[in-house]
Amino acid sequence: MMSDPRKVPFFNYPALFAEHEQEYVSTFHDVLKRGAYIMQADLAEFEKELAAYLGCKHAIGVADGTAALVFSLRASGIEPGDEVIVSSHTFVATAAAVHHVGAVPVIADCQADSMIDAESVRRLITPKTRAIMPTQLNGRTSDMDALSAIAEEHDLRIVEDSCQAMGARYRDRPAGLFGIAGSYSFYPAKTLGCFGDGGAVVTDSDEAADYIRTLRDHGRSADGKVRMFGHNGRLDNIQAAILRLKLARYDESIGRRRAIAAHYQARLGDIAELLLPPAPDADNIRFDIFQNYEIQAERRDALRDHLGANGIGTIIQWGGWMLHQFDDLGLTSDAPYAEQMSKRFMMLPMHHMLSDDDVDHVCDQVIAFHRN
Ligand SMILES: *Cc1c(COP(=O)(O)O)cnc(C)c1O
Repeated sequence: MMSDPRKVPFFNYPALFAEHEQEYVSTFHDVLKRGAYIMQADLAEFEKELAAYLGCKHAIGVADGTAALVFSLRASGIEPGDEVIVSSHTFVATAAAVHHVGAVPVIADCQADSMIDAESVRRLITPKTRAIMPTQLNGRTSDMDALSAIAEEHDLRIVEDSCQAMGARYRDRPAGLFGIAGSYSFYPAKTLGCFGDGGAVVTDSDEAADYIRTLRDHGRSADGKVRMFGHNGRLDNIQAAILRLKLARYDESIGRRRAIAAHYQARLGDIAELLLPPAPDADNIRFDIFQNYEIQAERRDALRDHLGANGIGTIIQWGGWMLHQFDDLGLTSDAPYAEQMSKRFMMLPMHHMLSDDDVDHVCDQVIAFHRN
């Protein structure tokens, strides 16, 4: 039997540029010719458009998602010595941001949909706990009703890591707008990706917005006077110009991701050995944007080998380690489910440039594997 020559890489970086090459080249030309490199009109326009897209008061472009997290924590009043509860199933940047403001990350468990587990959060609260920092992972939102209730009860802040969830919603509220300030990353493979590093903080508070604008530009306020020790945490103007183009097509690309998720669900939903993420129409509380399509598989490593042999790229998030499994970081944790999930989780290809034939090829091979 001849093997299928079709290849479906996990992600296609060159295609990100190729899909609208002419438009990008003329944008580079226009911006560079104007000499508009740092804190210029394209950044201001992008910030306005992003805020309008989300329906919030302020969006502030920053250097990357991690800077956005640090600035959000500071704008939320998190101070040295505070404890901040984060999920075990998150990027190390969530905990690193907590560490870099002098606070202590405390690691909670996750649940079957990959989101932070509210009951685990509850068990970890101490007199030093200051905030809950849910990661809106894979383009989905956490159980914000449960987390908000806990926050209210214990007088805690909510500081979201919504780096993977720009445009996701929970009861119509966008991810990133549950606390004082929220964060997005524009890393190239993110749903809204630029051609390098980038990020943004969003907030409805004028005071937080002023503070973050000052923090990101060496502590200088609009009149140039230094008000505090700040950072060089600015979003490059040229990246902002590219992000404006991408934002104009964003709904279309999220629609495509949701259609792909529905396609995976329809074809793989009844394989007993697999746990799929909730489908796009699973409830009417959430609108998920499917940054990733993360499944759990009983025979994960053998499935990945089979898919790899058939030209299909897959990835295990965080290299396969949940946050509390990086022993060198010495973190306190309560995460037995995450521990179990770390042996089973993996991601199938998910991005707006996949064709239906690509998705069918992935499904054919996942089904063929489970027939044996
Ligand atoms: C991408 C990401 C970040 C931060 O990303 P940067 O690379 O700093 O832009 C933070 N948290 C999560 C969950 C992420 O996926």
